[in-house]
Amino acid sequence: MSETIQQRILRKKNPSILPHVYYDKEIMKYEEAGLGVAANSLHYGTLVFGGIRGYALASGAIAVFRLEDHYKRLMNASKIMAYGVTYTYEEFHKIIHDLIKINNPQGNFYIRPFLFCDEAQVGPKLRNLTFDLAVYMMLMDNYADTSKGITFLTSSYTKYADVSISTKAKVAGGYVNSMMATHQANIAGFDEALLFNNAGMLAEASVANTLIVHRGSVMTPPIGSGALEGITLRSVLEILAYNNIPVIQCDIDRSTLYTADELIITGTAMQIGHGSEVDGRKFTYSSEHGPIVQLLKAEMDAILTMNHPLSHKWMVIFER
Ligand code: PMP
Repeated sequence: MSETIQQRILRKKNPSILPHVYYDKEIMKYEEAGLGVAANSLHYGTLVFGGIRGYALASGAIAVFRLEDHYKRLMNASKIMAYGVTYTYEEFHKIIHDLIKINNPQGNFYIRPFLFCDEAQVGPKLRNLTFDLAVYMMLMDNYADTSKGITFLTSSYTKYADVSISTKAKVAGGYVNSMMATHQANIAGFDEALLFNNAGMLAEASVANTLIVHRGSVMTPPIGSGALEGITLRSVLEILAYNNIPVIQCDIDRSTLYTADELIITGTAMQIGHGSEVDGRKFTYSSEHGPIVQLLKAEMDAILTMNHPLSHKWMVIFER
């Protein structure tokens, strides 16, 4: 007997994806949320997305990291891209809660909300297109092994400028840039890529923000560098302030990077990690964890397990 469409979709499904999704203003099974082959967002890269971490606590409850800040970034993306999608935080929170209840994740997981258009119009015209929210969830523990240092290549693919594609919204089409840079690093034998902007200053890693420790100062690229305004980076800046450690937001050139004591990367998928080397130059703290990354990892572990004064500010608790 030939395969049904549903069976074919299920066969191609990543096994970690949880069974229910939010699509077309309803909660439905993953295989029922079929996206048309002519969908605008597929052909023109117009989808914008978010990525949020959910943690299964020992108590049985679920804790979601900075849900409202992720919601705000997604709504800002709608504004930047002129998609006209507006959900209140209460509506968004309810969709996430309903999905948690029906999917009942048995471990840590990842939430992927996105705004997209599935209309079949040819041509890059935004006027008259309708965008809406969809959400899926997948089990995710570690995206990358951050217990050891990551090896980096400074990519010859530069980070696009905000005047070309918004760097403050996670625009699907823009991720071709991250993917090319990562592929270049991977085929050259490195774990990850670092992208510089067109002025030759450090922007970010392919899906993570960066900080360096140089001559005792913690530095991170400024807003205008082209880096995404990462919610993990914003959290790290608050954790450093909480520990009375000043941070300088400034341009970082390649030579400063090469002579750094620590390279720290932050992101929802990566969480907090450190670089061991870049372009074959080892950081001072290469195989071992440097003092700043050690502090950040310990603080973040305490926050995520509800053992830190910042936990109640950032963790949204859901009962199943
Ligand atoms: N930069 C890029 C390009 C990213 O895709 C991500 C992941 N969202 C980050 C930085 C880190 O941002 P956040 O901490 O909000 O996940």
